[in-house]
Amino acid sequence: MKFCPQCKRLMRPDRARGVWRCNACGTEVPLGTGVAVVHRTAPRGGVAVVESKTATLPKTDEVCPKCGNGEAYWVLRQTRGADEPETRIFECTRCGHKWREYQ
Ligand SMILES: [Zn+2]
Ligand SMILES: [Zn+2]
Repeated sequence: MKFCPQCKRLMRPDRARGVWRCNACGTEVPLGTGVAVVHRTAPRGGVAVVESKTATLPKTDEVCPKCGNGEAYWVLRQTRGADEPETRIFECTRCGHKWREYQ
């Protein structure tokens, strides 16, 4: 979606000519500018999501059974029954291997 910079009405894409066209006042904007903005912001947003996810997860000095790394992220997983204990799921900070805590 794009709005006319002149009259603020909704513009329609004219793909044959490669422009956004405003039917109200005739203003045309190249299609490329709108698309480029989306492509520039998308990858940066994706990386930010991954970084915030790993940054907020708590770490513990659990040893990875796969690679022997001594540090792992952990999350609590709720079990279905209220009387069952919660299970801690570990994820190795080095190789990404996941395993669950044995009670
Ligand atoms: Zn217009
Ligand atoms: Zn590991």
